[in-house]
Amino acid sequence: MKYLSTRGHTERKRFCEILLEGLAPDGGLYLPESYPQVDPTTLARWRKVYQDAGYADLAFEVLSLYIDDIPADDLLVICRKTYTEEVFGSKAIVPLTQLQPGLYLEALSNGPTLAFKDMAMQLLGNLFEYELARRGEELNILGATSGDTGSAAEYAMRGKKGVRVFMTSPFGRMSPFQQAQMFSLMDENIFNIAVDGVFDDCQDMVKAVSNDLEFKRKYRIGTVNSINWARLMAQVVYYFAGYFQSTTSNAQQVSFAVPSGNFGNVCAGHVARMMGLPIAQLVVATNENDVLDEFFRTGVYRVRASADTHETSSPSMDISKASNFERFVFDLLGRDGARTQDLFDAQLRQHGRFDLSGDAAFAQAVTRYGFISGKSTHADRLATIRQTFSDSGVLVDTHTADGLKVAREHLQAGVPMIVLETALPIKFAQTIVEALGREPDRPARFEGIEALPKRVTRMAADVGQIKSYISEHCR
Ligand SMILES: *Cc1c(COP(=O)(O)O)cnc(C)c1O
Repeated sequence: MKYLSTRGHTERKRFCEILLEGLAPDGGLYLPESYPQVDPTTLARWRKVYQDAGYADLAFEVLSLYIDDIPADDLLVICRKTYTEEVFGSKAIVPLTQLQPGLYLEALSNGPTLAFKDMAMQLLGNLFEYELARRGEELNILGATSGDTGSAAEYAMRGKKGVRVFMTSPFGRMSPFQQAQMFSLMDENIFNIAVDGVFDDCQDMVKAVSNDLEFKRKYRIGTVNSINWARLMAQVVYYFAGYFQSTTSNAQQVSFAVPSGNFGNVCAGHVARMMGLPIAQLVVATNENDVLDEFFRTGVYRVRASADTHETSSPSMDISKASNFERFVFDLLGRDGARTQDLFDAQLRQHGRFDLSGDAAFAQAVTRYGFISGKSTHADRLATIRQTFSDSGVLVDTHTADGLKVAREHLQAGVPMIVLETALPIKFAQTIVEALGREPDRPARFEGIEALPKRVTRMAADVGQIKSYISEHCR
């Protein structure tokens, strides 16, 4: 299996090369040269693998099709070490709950940080440790977070050999629960940096460090952001697991509704569908930041200025530009790298938008690729949380509520709809209290975490300071 860039670069790379890399050299995103096809016999075998051997072995089957430069025995060990009942809280790993006939919730957020990002990040931690040891190299991950990504990365990399994490976050702006989750980690390879500023200041510092190529090389700076192909690939697995749990035969189709921000999660659904998983519709749900809903309704992709990005009660979907979207557009345009380059580089830079409404390819987003979309507001979230709780006794978080609201608008008779649950309500307790007048339940392991000692360094939004901090802590 070789990987190519969405912007047409001629070089082809293998999995372990792109694992530790971010963007392709031409600024594009990596994708496999072609999607491996899962025929009916294989799909039937995988159904049994998931039922009999479990999620880790299913993950091994899927990943084996994309990774041919790690020996199979080692890859199986990595999968089994990652997806354990101990870490993810159940034998099914991603158990399904029926909300009403034909409507299901797939739980992706029972990992260490209670958000679906753990599903991929936990695997990434083990892949990084394996590959760095094999090369005898080290990596210093530098990131900016407003919540979920940073904590998922830290819990995946804590205690891992060869990896350090330097995570910036805006001082005083994360919820007390999120701060406690990150800052209570005492592992020597985890460094929390609270920056006097907002999230964009953190992001700017990270960019400035990454643009200093000499510093970047000298200190082996890397990232774990959502454009990493390995994260996307790991997410493909739970689409298969959701399918197997909601159907009894491979003749059946299902649909998925996905709360979306950077288009990473739902892009994994697209990949699963391209591999042959019988998916009828992929429902993209956005909040008030509706860049993606606008595209699927109109064919116009219009990025927003960060000042025009709404702060909402589903904050992990507050994006102005969907960083994984380029992968889907590349496929939509028949894998035309030159055209993708023109849209995402020239057009976006010059006009902040591109328009595919007049293009025959755009109609295929729905007809050939099964995409459909909708949006949800704060009032919708409150109503959905209340209704779901009173109808089925299930408490959903604000992001999942966005997915559920839009899913209900696209139900089709005879096709199960699976809503991906992307976080547990405890992470966004304030809105749950607003909706229901009570606090959500807290898993026992998080009792009292706000009172734990904290390990965090406060810093001005200053590139020089963070550089010297990194160099001091890399021996
Ligand atoms: C990251 C995140 C999302 C958005 O996922 P994308 O892959 O960026 O589309 C949705 N919900 C929660 C809770 C998240 O943490």
